[in-house]
Amino acid sequence: MDKQQEFVLRTLEERDIRFVRLWFTDVLGFLKSVAVAPAELEQAFDEGMGFDGSAIEGFARVYESDMIAKPDPGTFQILPWRAEAPGTARMFCDILMPDGSPSFADPRFVLKRILAKTSDLGFTFYTHPEIEFFLLKDRPLDGSRPTPADNSGYFDHTPQNVGMDFRRQAITMLESMGISVEFSHHEGAPGQQEIDLRYADALSTADNIMTFRLVMKQVALEQGVQATFMPKPFSEHPGSGMHTHLSLFEGDRNAFYESGAEYQLSKVGRSFIAGLLQHAAEISAVTNQWVNSYKRIWGGSARTAGSGGEAPSYICWGHNNRSALIRVPMYKPGKTGSARIEVRSLDSGANPYLAYAVLLAAGLKGIEEGYELPAGADDDVWALSDAERRAMGIEPLPQNLGEAITLMERSELVAETLGEHVFDFFLRNKKQEWEKYRSEVTAFELRENLPVL
Ligand code: GLU
Ligand code: MG
Ligand code: MG
Repeated sequence: MDKQQEFVLRTLEERDIRFVRLWFTDVLGFLKSVAVAPAELEQAFDEGMGFDGSAIEGFARVYESDMIAKPDPGTFQILPWRAEAPGTARMFCDILMPDGSPSFADPRFVLKRILAKTSDLGFTFYTHPEIEFFLLKDRPLDGSRPTPADNSGYFDHTPQNVGMDFRRQAITMLESMGISVEFSHHEGAPGQQEIDLRYADALSTADNIMTFRLVMKQVALEQGVQATFMPKPFSEHPGSGMHTHLSLFEGDRNAFYESGAEYQLSKVGRSFIAGLLQHAAEISAVTNQWVNSYKRIWGGSARTAGSGGEAPSYICWGHNNRSALIRVPMYKPGKTGSARIEVRSLDSGANPYLAYAVLLAAGLKGIEEGYELPAGADDDVWALSDAERRAMGIEPLPQNLGEAITLMERSELVAETLGEHVFDFFLRNKKQEWEKYRSEVTAFELRENLPVL
């Protein structure tokens, strides 16, 4: 038994933990959990825990349903809302096949595989997400409109606003689980919150995002409200993005940084951005995986309809340009050696393991193939005409899930990165979602057509 495993077993004793939840994530990004008694844990560390994978989205076909969840002791945490004795703790798991080989259906393995390639190339991949979500008074399940938990706006700080207490409690809980928070505030829409996590290696970030979503939902319930990560719950308000800052390190040197270069951006950094741009459309089905995701990125720009709220619709990069898909944030004067890029398409409903895997694959492709970075866009790209954008070589992101699926289906990069199993399952599942949506007569049509036709 290794030191981390010993530490876990000792802590279980000392803190009187009676329930250990083994966590993993299905292909669509939903958290799954199986509880084991502490007495079983030594064996779980050795051999893993068997479970029936056939009921988990995307995991197995029924005839090959036996799977094994093997806990990663490095992710052991006591759940703060179940901390008093007897307590409950959790560990993330890797999913294995009965022969002990990694399961190709496990999103965590998809990310690990591309991270291993990244490390072969001499890099470590760091991410830092800005997670937006809504607090609602209710969660109606019949398709009717929810009610935001408050009426505040961007950076508002008012005592009657539920968000303030909420953020305080939520951040305390995250920190007690070893997840550092950099920044938090009320976002632009009523009920909308943003919490930014401190940068970490991409696997830890993805694990942290899964924990984050559960913690937010938990704290919300304690405060009598509901948290949702749905990308765009309201037509007239901005949606919830999960902008993520990315950087590659070589040892302790930031590989995106070059002193004196434009925006301090090295050749590696430039090619990485070029890769993200080149492959942005074909990875959209993964970074923006729901029918509703496209209502966010096509919800109208901040300047036009007032409801898109700075979500990107066009494939371009810029420096201080919030209409761009990729932004190179201003470097901090006096802070040398640091450079990062912000991807703004990603939304809060994404599976973080798969989304980070495809973003990383696109960026690495740019480096490996030495892609040239096209000129940046300084203008508000929403304000340009189609002809002007075309002249500048700026293409739109897919306009809906159907288009995104078609582009993904042709993508070698996505097929290779997700692996055959996840790629096939994902496409099948998303096609079903799209078909279901397409065949539904919506409130929009009834409202627009019934009075006049
Ligand atoms: N809510 C916006 C989005 O959906 C982002 C606002 C911001 O710039 O933080 O991407
Ligand atoms: Mg924000
Ligand atoms: Mg941002």
